[in-house]
Amino acid sequence: MNRPADTQKINDHLRLRLQDRGLMLDSLMDNLDGLVYCCLPDEHWTMVFVSSGCKQLTGYSPQDLLFNRVTSYENITHPDDRESVRNKISDAIREHERFNIEYRIIQADGTLCWVWERGVAIYDDLDVVVAIEGFIQDISQKKDHEQALSDAEIRYRSIFENAIEGIFQTSLSGQYLDANPALARIYGHESVKDMMSDLVNIQTQLYVDPGRRDEFRMLMDLHGKVQNFESQVYRKDGEIIWISENARTVKNDAGEVLYYEGTVEDITERRTFEAQIQHQATHDSLTGLPNRYLLEDRLQQSINFAERYHTRLAVAFVDLDQFKHINDSLGHDAGDTLLLTISERLSALVRDSDTVVRLGGDEFVILLTSIQKNDYVTHTMKRVLDAISQPVMLNGLEFRISCSIGISIYPEDATQANVLLKNADTAMYKAKQSGRNNFQYYTHKLNAILQERMDIERKLRNATKREELILYYQPKVDIEDNRVNGAEALIRWVPEAGTMISPARFIPIAEETGLIEEIGDWVLNTACLQSHVFLKKFGRPILVSINISPRQFQRKGLAQHIAEIITRTGADPQYIELEITESTLADDIGTFISTLHELKAIGVKLAIDDFGTGYSSMTYLKDFPIDRLKIDQGFVYNLEQTPANSAILKAIVTLGHNLGLKVIAEGVETEFQRDFLRDIGCDELQGYLFSKPIEVNDFMNLVLKATH
Ligand code: C2E
Ligand code: MG
Ligand code: MG
Repeated sequence: MNRPADTQKINDHLRLRLQDRGLMLDSLMDNLDGLVYCCLPDEHWTMVFVSSGCKQLTGYSPQDLLFNRVTSYENITHPDDRESVRNKISDAIREHERFNIEYRIIQADGTLCWVWERGVAIYDDLDVVVAIEGFIQDISQKKDHEQALSDAEIRYRSIFENAIEGIFQTSLSGQYLDANPALARIYGHESVKDMMSDLVNIQTQLYVDPGRRDEFRMLMDLHGKVQNFESQVYRKDGEIIWISENARTVKNDAGEVLYYEGTVEDITERRTFEAQIQHQATHDSLTGLPNRYLLEDRLQQSINFAERYHTRLAVAFVDLDQFKHINDSLGHDAGDTLLLTISERLSALVRDSDTVVRLGGDEFVILLTSIQKNDYVTHTMKRVLDAISQPVMLNGLEFRISCSIGISIYPEDATQANVLLKNADTAMYKAKQSGRNNFQYYTHKLNAILQERMDIERKLRNATKREELILYYQPKVDIEDNRVNGAEALIRWVPEAGTMISPARFIPIAEETGLIEEIGDWVLNTACLQSHVFLKKFGRPILVSINISPRQFQRKGLAQHIAEIITRTGADPQYIELEITESTLADDIGTFISTLHELKAIGVKLAIDDFGTGYSSMTYLKDFPIDRLKIDQGFVYNLEQTPANSAILKAIVTLGHNLGLKVIAEGVETEFQRDFLRDIGCDELQGYLFSKPIEVNDFMNLVLKATH
């Protein structure tokens, strides 16, 4: 704050200055940032008055310029600008207007400087220009700034024009305000101009799904931007491509959206690649059918649909019956051809809404959706069986194969995808067991059986370790004198705190899981040791018969393996007999016979068990190096009521004897049966009539008692 005394002083000072206007103007001019001048309208712009700002602006002192003493203003003006300066001033003079020009001067030290000059001409009474008065200011800084701006503008334009990405500005209603050449190129137009005149409504002309534009606008409203917004659009030629947009809203100061701007990238290649990868991951490469992953997805979707609309769906598990055999014997190419043929036949059978999946190997799944009646499923499955059983040409030969199908239905059999599949698989298993080439519906009973199987399998894994297995012996007697001359070793399993489980239940499971090898070894060991004990105990040999299951029989190096066990246990091989069931003889008869020979070579006896159940072997029987035929108990069972069986029994005994084999009948329960068997010349018998299978001590007591 100025004190009153100071204020007084200032007022005095001002009054003084106002009194002397000349003084005030001088001072004003001296302090002005620029040059005040008065010059003649001649070719030098001869200065007659120059303010002291001259020094700062031009580097020359006012004295240097006055009357062109050192240099003229024309001289100072940049040679390139002289003409235009003169023209503009002349124009203004002619029009009696003020002039207002920007141009360059060269300062005393040679520096270039942009100036802004405003002035006016002074005319005499005859309207002749006598002088020009004006003011010149340094605008270099402003010019630099403008230049920088324009440079930037050029740079950005260049980025805009040369970008690989499309760049756009569009109105809210979907018209282009601006776009770069890349965008025109992406959309297949000759030029930006072309595109902007062609594309007048993005929503309807550009997006394949017009809803995308609504979504775009909705996101813009919501977030003020979109990121990696991927859509399909039409190019000018109608081709559909994928683009990714990144865009934002541009608003005015009042916050109103003026337009959208953003970039467009053509991502068609990436999308195609992704689609390929996706296809590869979800389809089987051989058949092109959906694979397991896609099945899970489709199944879940179908379940959701069925749940919402209260419809049903069927999952059918299809397994080819002879695929492994064909693949192994004809080679993989033939196997592939077969799978392709089957997949084509299956696909042709179902409706478009249904799905055929290759799970892997020779397993397929058919998903039937929206089924009204089970009839439809049954009908379709019959057609599947029929289609698959049509002949296939492989390596120039005609083959016929069949399949086994298991079906589960949503929602009756399960409501969860994995359970539906599992149940269909269980039912398929049942179809296999029911002789193949058929289909089975899942039932809860089937599930109970399966549960039990799983339970048995789990416990069976530890049975040998926990010493839960026992061997029972069932005597075989000479039919003439009732003398015990042999015993069949029959396994029993007593799981911890459980009741005894019959081998008929657990042996098939042991077979399937491979546990039979370990269990079989235990049986061989135990029975061989026992045979040794019997010999010592009875003073005469007792032939111990050991059952060899099909999987055991197929084990590589079986004879060698058994020979080792026999040696280790000290048993005499001639008192060991191996019972091989007729069903072991699969397709490869050659291998079957050579294995029999290998076994024979180690000195053991061989018997065909359950003889008569697989008629196929009759023709080959003469080639088997065996000692005994063991007639299947089915022929003996209830012989009294089944006279037809007596003819078969007779035929088998005759056949056996003709081949020089002993014939034994098992399952003999009645005296009638025994008498009949004796009458037709059967050699030995085994059955409840004489004894059930019993513990080893009981067996030994029985033999000793009978001897004495
Ligand atoms: P398999 O070898 O045909 O054995 C004969 C089956 O008939 C035995 O059943 C036996 O107890 C039964 N049996 C004997 N006499 C009579 C009779 O008079 N009436 C009736 N109804 N049945 C009689 P088991 O012991 O239940 O064995 C069943 C099957 O399990 C055997 O049939 C055999 O294939 C298999 N098996 C038993 N033990 C073993 C073993 O240690 N290893 C292998 N791999 N399989 C075995
Ligand atoms: Mg047997
Ligand atoms: Mg048998």
